[in-house]
Amino acid sequence: MLEQQRLRSDTANAARAEEFREGDKQVGRQEEQIAHASNIITPVIARKTARQRLIRTRFTIYEFATYSITNGKIARISAEPLAGERVLNAKGLVVAPGFIDLHQHGQDVDSGRVKVFDGVTTALEMEIGSPDVAAFLKSKQGQSLVNYGSSASHVAARALIFGAPLPEGTLLPAAGPATDLPATAEQIQKIEDRLRHELDAGGLGVGMGIQYTPGASRLEVIQMFRLAAERSVPVFVHVRSAGRVEPGSSIEAVSEVIGAAAVSGASLHIVHINSMCTKDSLECLSMVAGARARGLDVTAEAYPYTAGMTFIRIEQS
Ligand SMILES: [Zn+2]
Repeated sequence: MLEQQRLRSDTANAARAEEFREGDKQVGRQEEQIAHASNIITPVIARKTARQRLIRTRFTIYEFATYSITNGKIARISAEPLAGERVLNAKGLVVAPGFIDLHQHGQDVDSGRVKVFDGVTTALEMEIGSPDVAAFLKSKQGQSLVNYGSSASHVAARALIFGAPLPEGTLLPAAGPATDLPATAEQIQKIEDRLRHELDAGGLGVGMGIQYTPGASRLEVIQMFRLAAERSVPVFVHVRSAGRVEPGSSIEAVSEVIGAAAVSGASLHIVHINSMCTKDSLECLSMVAGARARGLDVTAEAYPYTAGMTFIRIEQS
């Protein structure tokens, strides 16, 4: 019986992994063309696999050039050797301005170090955002190797208003009333007030993880977009659902946030569109392209890896 259960779940996992791979392949295939045509996927996001391709399509490559860097800026590019106080041999490497990563959950010093090795000089927590922007900024001051910043977290604001505040350093609440129940009009207003407070503290946008707060109604989502529009900041969204089963398909989930952007006027960034849309990734990208063609400010990102994320932790009792 147990073995049967295991096999069943293995089959389910294999199917899910296959969907992930398919989404990844679709995005990969279209990446260069789309990035070139409409700049939907930026080097910020699709950094690993797309970096070189994007550099080819969007920048001129100076293959054997010498760069003169003065005060942190590229001052001269030359085919001839240039003299300088310090000479670095960058053979086989790409000289580029630091990359900006909008989707960086690991905000500890070690994670920052790894980002630097990857050429990232700005690593922002924008998908969900930290629960207390002021505390986040204070904790990073003088401690970070890279530029930092966070969105104001709708997920955390909701948890706070539902009486289950998230401790600093936590992204998501455990499932419960704060995630699963619809908010009353009064609670929605309080969530908005909390987000205004967080934006005043330096939040760079509104971060939403709708899949993690399934109790949030369509109207609550629209209200958050209206608030973002009022403050002229973008909304970063992990959309409501993935897959092809209706209701609750990825197409529906992407429609929801594009609709919210359209009616509110807020800028929208859809995070990891490949792993939400999987086999419908191309459809989702064309929805984004369609929204952009009609004047909406909508962008998306895709992981550069097939896998999502994982981490190792020790449960403390
Ligand atoms: Zn996510």
